[in-house]
Amino acid sequence: MKFEPVIGLEIHAQLKTKTKIFCACSTVFGAAPNTHTCPVCLGMPGVLPVLNKKVVEYTLRMALATGCDIEAVSRFARKNYFYPDLPKGYQISQYELPIARNGHVAVEVNGSTHHIGITRIHMEEDAGKLSHDPGRPVSRVDFNRTGVPLIEIVSQPDIRSPEAAGAYLRQLRAIVRYLGICDGNLEEGSFRCDANVSIRPAGTEAFGTRTEIKNLNSFKHVEKALQYEISRQQEVLADAGAVTQETRLWDPEKNRTQSMRSKEEAHDYRYFPDPDLLPLVIESDWIETVRRDLPELPAAKKKRFVDAYGLPSYDADILTSDRELATYFEDCLKNISRPKLVSNWIMGSLLGWLNAQGKSIDQAPISASDLAQLLKLVDDETISGKIAKIVFDEMARSGKSARRIVEEKKLIQISDSSAIEDIVSTVVDANPAEVRAYRNGKTKLLGFFVGQVMKATRGKANPKLVNDILKRQLEK
Ligand code: ADP
Ligand code: MG
Ligand code: ZN
Repeated sequence: MKFEPVIGLEIHAQLKTKTKIFCACSTVFGAAPNTHTCPVCLGMPGVLPVLNKKVVEYTLRMALATGCDIEAVSRFARKNYFYPDLPKGYQISQYELPIARNGHVAVEVNGSTHHIGITRIHMEEDAGKLSHDPGRPVSRVDFNRTGVPLIEIVSQPDIRSPEAAGAYLRQLRAIVRYLGICDGNLEEGSFRCDANVSIRPAGTEAFGTRTEIKNLNSFKHVEKALQYEISRQQEVLADAGAVTQETRLWDPEKNRTQSMRSKEEAHDYRYFPDPDLLPLVIESDWIETVRRDLPELPAAKKKRFVDAYGLPSYDADILTSDRELATYFEDCLKNISRPKLVSNWIMGSLLGWLNAQGKSIDQAPISASDLAQLLKLVDDETISGKIAKIVFDEMARSGKSARRIVEEKKLIQISDSSAIEDIVSTVVDANPAEVRAYRNGKTKLLGFFVGQVMKATRGKANPKLVNDILKRQLEK
């Protein structure tokens, strides 16, 4: 029997506000344990939470960016459970009245577009962090993260493959980063994903029993864990067994998921409205202000890059995956209006360099206007593309301008046809056997001759002229 996977993701994004969601403690990461705490986030009796307005604003940005309806009135609830990283004994979250519902995003997978619904987006507070001593029976708790604001984004079970889940996750990560509300770091846990997955016989409607996978801290793990879990469930069903609804933990070392606990139900948490916090009322004026100030979002930017610059969808996808990268690209175009040439150099040389160094675009070794200057030299044939690669590396290393490097190293392209004629003649005279073979039909040898001319000119001869002159001399 053929099965179809059904996937829904729950994403937690840590908001980049300066202070926590219900107190004035700093959210800065990496401080000494328990130094960013106060009676409110430590859950002392007799203190009251006060909602951080910035948290609401950031949540509104995300909700509007994903086409959600904003609820005029929403409410905070207490989600009760005991765990040592939760000093109050409950987490403040939104439950039956979340701030936003009914959103959607479009993602592209292998050239086709999928629409994925967003059930809800709500605000909540993060818990503290436990660390366990491997050698001793000791655990420590750090409450600096307690009360750091999160939004939870719950998707509809609209995703049908691990690749689509990855694409959806990437799309949401790009959006939160464009909005400047979250740094989107999966490895460091500021952007976390739990994946729910079930399978059903292809062509049927009813959903199968799902499992929820936790501990997915990279895009690769999300896709691998889903693949693993889909085949595991298939095997269970093939053996005439039944999938158990449970929470499973991805083990990146063993490349498998393992049962962690049976799935908790909402009633296990005894949710109830938090009596310390008033219902949250959002004025429509505020919504309109936030909507007006939204930046151009990744999907719109991508479409514009394709329409306005004639870029292939593949290029536009990469260039708009990061807002700063897109800006870098457009800054280059201010100095040279050759979109595809610029795109090739950004995707090839620049991103290649950054990846190799583990750096991001804001640490680019060459400014956009300097890269444009280099590409102008290619465009007006002062230097060849091959030489430009050498100049690029030298620019990245030394910080010198393209023109200066070209002059100092005497790299200007030889475009003087009589000079090239002479060099071609020398090469032709020096290789009589190859010339004979070429004339007898082995025209593939043209590459050999081009190579010889380039060697003689240390790569500086204009490749088009070399080709033309060689062909003419060889064919006479
Ligand atoms: P819970 O309250 O247990 O977290 P939700 O109904 O909020 O459950 O769903 C959580 C996530 O699981 C959502 O992203 C939803 O799309 C997904 N989901 C629900 N049912 C299924 C299913 N049968 N198969 C796969 N995913 C599912
Ligand atoms: Mg859930
Ligand atoms: Zn505090």
